[in-house]
Amino acid sequence: MSRLDARALTRELVAFRTVNPPGMERACARHLGALLEGAGFRIEYHEFAEARTSLIASIGSGHSATPPICFTGHIDVVPLGAKPWSHDAFAGETDGDRIYGRGTTDMKSGIAAFVAAAIDAAADLARGPGLVVVITAGEEVGCEGAKYLADHRHLDRAGAIVVAEPTANYPYVGHKGLAWFEVETSGVTAHGSMPELGENAILKMARVIGDLERFEFAVRSHPVMGEPTLNVGTFEGGSGVNLVPDLAKIGVDIRTVPGVDHKKLISRLKTLMGKADVDVFSDLPPVWTAPDDDWMQRVFEICKPVLGKKPRARTATYMTDAANLLKVYAGAPTVVLGPGEAQMAHQTDEYCNMERIRESVAIYEALIDDWIR
Ligand SMILES: [Zn+2]
Repeated sequence: MSRLDARALTRELVAFRTVNPPGMERACARHLGALLEGAGFRIEYHEFAEARTSLIASIGSGHSATPPICFTGHIDVVPLGAKPWSHDAFAGETDGDRIYGRGTTDMKSGIAAFVAAAIDAAADLARGPGLVVVITAGEEVGCEGAKYLADHRHLDRAGAIVVAEPTANYPYVGHKGLAWFEVETSGVTAHGSMPELGENAILKMARVIGDLERFEFAVRSHPVMGEPTLNVGTFEGGSGVNLVPDLAKIGVDIRTVPGVDHKKLISRLKTLMGKADVDVFSDLPPVWTAPDDDWMQRVFEICKPVLGKKPRARTATYMTDAANLLKVYAGAPTVVLGPGEAQMAHQTDEYCNMERIRESVAIYEALIDDWIR
């Protein structure tokens, strides 16, 4: 049993109002930093904007041939939504085995569990390859915190990554990648009664959308992740029914699987869309570790008694910070594994189960033991 109670820590973390936007993660990051520092971890804070604080905490000799194991999670949470809650979203109210509140599942319980496991093992970790905790701000809006840490070289090395996003303690071997872009078509405005004098940007965009709908990725279906997808998520254009529109915009969300070359994909799409203006504002490759990878097999073995059966290869439906961390921790096998209930993420009356948090702490302790053995 961990000396630091991860369930109590989950409730403490929920009380920090880190709803993103605006996030304002500084106080929450400093609270966690103080706990880890007290246990002998070296602490660094990095802010990608005022009070948008991420935390890197590390322990270990630093000279070991084996790099440290990394545990990661984000402290920002999504807004409460329009529906009223029947529990206070920031009080960490408990009812039976449940803790209610925004971020209980996604993903303050996961952070509490790995912080508890890491502090518990601090004395052993100090001697060997060690452990690095990466706690990020701004994940829910474009993975800003992790992107900042990776792009500004604040990360050193890690030999494996555990992402404590909600999986009900089922180990996921990765997730799809993404490419998000905005497309703009322009035209020439004119009076709506004389469209022949103008150039209609919406009609041009309609042709672009038709082309996107017919687009073929031309990659083999991935055995676990399946097919890449494309969704046109937003459309804007025109300023009045009696005007020929001179501008139209769409937002497109592509989710990719291993085997898709993002550079080639984006260049094919640009060719397809011809004269339209394309702005790619997010571009992250898929995260994938082969299920028969040595370490992943050990993760499966460690989870087996908790799940009651050996896990099969499955992937998460959502994106995680791992996609950015892997820019630096290249090649590190990565598992998405945390105590939250995936179907409760971003929901009204979000909750997590205390029993799952207890299980998570035990799994994380076993992963740490396995790493430093
Ligand atoms: Zn999350």
